[in-house]
Amino acid sequence: MIKCFKCNYSDQIQKVSAIYSAGISSGSYYGSSTPLGESKPSFTTVSGSSQSLLSRRLAPPNKPSPSFMLIVLDVVLAGFAIFCIILPCLFLLVLIYVLSYKPKVDQSKKEDKERLAKEIPLWETAMERWNRLYYCMRDDVVFDPDTEASFRPEEMMNYLYSAN
Ligand SMILES: [Zn+2]
Repeated sequence: MIKCFKCNYSDQIQKVSAIYSAGISSGSYYGSSTPLGESKPSFTTVSGSSQSLLSRRLAPPNKPSPSFMLIVLDVVLAGFAIFCIILPCLFLLVLIYVLSYKPKVDQSKKEDKERLAKEIPLWETAMERWNRLYYCMRDDVVFDPDTEASFRPEEMMNYLYSAN
């Protein structure tokens, strides 16, 4: 039986991953509403999701993603290429781009790939750790039964990404 490292009880503990997923709720609410300027009520459905504060504090680390700017650049270029077919005069502009900026963009893309290659394994380790964490409601403390480390939810990211 896993016990809290602080109070030594197991009655108030829960897996962090379970608290996280239980804290996100979504649903639809159906009811009547009166639109502005009208006197008759009409029926509407409102859908949405909400997340409890604790669930937000115990959220897993975000997965590293490719640079958004570089993706946008590719889309812009593809659009540009289509314009070139319609308006051949733009061809010159593309040529200037290819000659001057492409090496820089390629370099940025290479660096972005290298950054991802470095960050993804760190994130995977962090997720592995996050998946074995427990939380004690009584003490507001997160702990890792494998390493016997315990800390406040606010310090969780530091622990997940720490080197040891
Ligand atoms: Zn406790």
